[in-house]
Amino acid sequence: TYVVTENCIRCKYTDCVDVCPVDCFYEGANFLVIHPDECIDCGLCEPECPAEAILSEDDLNDAQQPYVELNAELAEVW
Ligand code: SF4
Repeated sequence: TYVVTENCIRCKYTDCVDVCPVDCFYEGANFLVIHPDECIDCGLCEPECPAEAILSEDDLNDAQQPYVELNAELAEVW
């Protein structure tokens, strides 16, 4: 699963949304999030993000870990 992280906050680009084949981006409070169950891990969005805010879950550093839950929560998984 890919995860949107802090660099996306108040970002105005939506290039990632345009390339996602399964339309799994959702609008959070002040940044976009990825629905973890809908993301098919294609990786297309990562290079499209001008803010480098999108990372594979496996590549997150410790400070970015909370974004896993935040993406799920804001995508209204629960
Ligand atoms: Fe969409 Fe692919 Fe990015 Fe997942 S990795 S959010 S499916 S573009």
